[in-house]
Amino acid sequence: MRLQGIHHISAITGDAQRNLDFYTRVLGLRLVAKTVNQDDPNVYHLFYADEQGHPGSEMTFFEYPHAIPGRPGAGMIHRIVWRVGSDAALVFWAQRLPSLEVPVTRGAEGSVVFSDPEGLEHELVVDESGDAPLIAGAPDIPAEHALQGFEGVRAYATDPERSGALLEKVLGAERSGDDVWTLRGERRGGWIAYDPAPAERGRQSGGSVHHIAWGTTVVEHPEWQDRITAAGVHTSGIIDRTYFKSIYFREPSGVLFEIADDAPGFTIDSPVEELGRKIILPPQFEGQRERIERRLTPLPDPGPRPAAAT
Ligand code: ZN
Repeated sequence: MRLQGIHHISAITGDAQRNLDFYTRVLGLRLVAKTVNQDDPNVYHLFYADEQGHPGSEMTFFEYPHAIPGRPGAGMIHRIVWRVGSDAALVFWAQRLPSLEVPVTRGAEGSVVFSDPEGLEHELVVDESGDAPLIAGAPDIPAEHALQGFEGVRAYATDPERSGALLEKVLGAERSGDDVWTLRGERRGGWIAYDPAPAERGRQSGGSVHHIAWGTTVVEHPEWQDRITAAGVHTSGIIDRTYFKSIYFREPSGVLFEIADDAPGFTIDSPVEELGRKIILPPQFEGQRERIERRLTPLPDPGPRPAAAT
């Protein structure tokens, strides 16, 4: 049994409007779902992804209005690594981002490193995986330069070997670098790398990652719960998130992991053209829609999507 790389990554924002602007207008992702935090329906859970909202491209944010800036520390993901198609795409982003007042630095092999408005770090690298590119259509970003989904994440840890043992023995990962482990199934793959933790303690708030979800199939999802529990790791049990099912647990370095299945997701009750327009409420909150919508931060309607935008 193998995990299918990164399913989604969830972070925190203190400013839903600025967050929406950055991830859609600047990065060219599509808002595929506006829903609410199932544990607190008065705040948003926003999903940005490729055109169809595929696992492997979903960057999500819980809104905590006016949250102070967070700071990554031990046990926290501090950088999200995305794929692009070519060196020419790196050049495109190295020019585009500064033109939109987002400073960049160039990393290893010409990668492009930048932060979102709340300090969450991103890196763009040229894809060498052969996995299907997961692309959103954006009016001013040529399809060949668009983001193509997640490549990996970098986390801070004091003792990466402890995480590595769980990743290899329980989660089926393979060591693919010094402190890097890759989780690859037949469909997709992705990795987590551990860097030495800063001395200062982390603070989970605006611009920090809350958890990372690894993908699996609907059939294998319950088997992962059995396998992880059998290894002595305490989990949340299987939680129904309406659009997919989830299992949460902390890996030994402290990073919150989730295993999410590949159920059809948001297109189960909404046509692809309409994704991201209506606020989606889990069935238990539908009766309170009017009250909930009044309390949420107003966000512009992205409008229907033209067919075949890419
Ligand atoms: Zn999640």
